[in-house]
Amino acid sequence: MKDRNVLMIPGPIEFTPEVLRAMGMATTSHVAPEFVEVFGRALERLREVFLCPGGQPFVIAGSGTLAMDLAAANLVEPGDGALVVNTGYFSDRFAAILERYGAEVAHVRAPAVGDVPPLEEVEAALKARPVKLMTVTHVDTSTAVATDVRALAALGRAHGALVVVDGVCSVAGEELRQEEWGVDVALTASQKAIGVPPGLALVVAGPRAMDAFRGRRTHVGNYYADWTNWLPIMEAYAARKPGYFGTPPVNLIWALDVSLGQIVAEGMDARFARHRKLSAALKAGVEALGMRQVPVRADVAAATLTAPYYPDGVGASMLGYVEEAGVIVAGGLHPEIKFRYFRIGHMGAVAASDILATLGAIEYGLARTGHAFEPGAGLAAAQTALLA
Ligand SMILES: *Cc1c(COP(=O)(O)O)cnc(C)c1O
Repeated sequence: MKDRNVLMIPGPIEFTPEVLRAMGMATTSHVAPEFVEVFGRALERLREVFLCPGGQPFVIAGSGTLAMDLAAANLVEPGDGALVVNTGYFSDRFAAILERYGAEVAHVRAPAVGDVPPLEEVEAALKARPVKLMTVTHVDTSTAVATDVRALAALGRAHGALVVVDGVCSVAGEELRQEEWGVDVALTASQKAIGVPPGLALVVAGPRAMDAFRGRRTHVGNYYADWTNWLPIMEAYAARKPGYFGTPPVNLIWALDVSLGQIVAEGMDARFARHRKLSAALKAGVEALGMRQVPVRADVAAATLTAPYYPDGVGASMLGYVEEAGVIVAGGLHPEIKFRYFRIGHMGAVAASDILATLGAIEYGLARTGHAFEPGAGLAAAQTALLA
């Protein structure tokens, strides 16, 4: 029997064998010529993956929360107005980080869990008082809700705000075109759709963000996060020269270069389309099994994540049975509905076979809880969507 589960959570995801081999290589010096070349190439490839040819990439040891911290620490000065387009758990976290650096934070919230804040309300909040920086969570990992980053970024820019997108659950999976859409900072972490084990904070800052950073009147209130320390390092490696501020996580950066190479080889448009197609198949399967989803409408549902409510009479004990059938999914996270729903991540190297395995395991889980349904209905709906 294969001693392996299919990991379908919103990060860490499953990594390709090539990426994992890079993690297991003998560690090189961080100034070895071959590492300098790999780091430099990874920085270039990040611009391609973020679709931001004019952006400044930062690759720094840490998790996605550090990537959020980097944006806030370097762009916020005490007393600055900030607006959080709030879709849940990670939007609240961004607000807490912004406040830590002295921002005056306002929120625009969705009318209900599973919905997005209305554009008119975001516009009203941008008009109400000066907003230096607006944050948007692209895909909220607690609800599987995706915001309309393109429209929000246009609004933010029209009112002079820097637009910062938390793309931790979206970059390299959900369609995000940083430069074309006018996003000033986009950020993610290695373990989500980028497909590298946890440990890298990844940020791409556009020219307006770098200008705002350079024009600061006060020092950055965080030593490790200060771009003053990191910018010369990123510029050095991009120019194929070594640099040192803090030791780079060498193997993770080798693995990052491998994964970005795979992403670029697939092509961003093909990658977005694959995520959309697999997501639609899984969502069709979930629906055919009679489960509602947390996102209130299809046009606010993410392509990297699915969040079904348990059917009536079924509870979180179902997830243990799903795991018994070889698939690991995640429990609820949003505090208001935590025990009423679960989450399935499908990003990165995910394939049609993973979607079918997941639905098969969900059907097994439903059956084991004694729920009455037609076995095979979810699989059939997904297969029909995959074949369409
Ligand atoms: C996972 C996630 C984070 C936090 O990333 P960590 O690596 O866990 O610190 C932030 N925002 C979103 C949208 C996420 O999905």
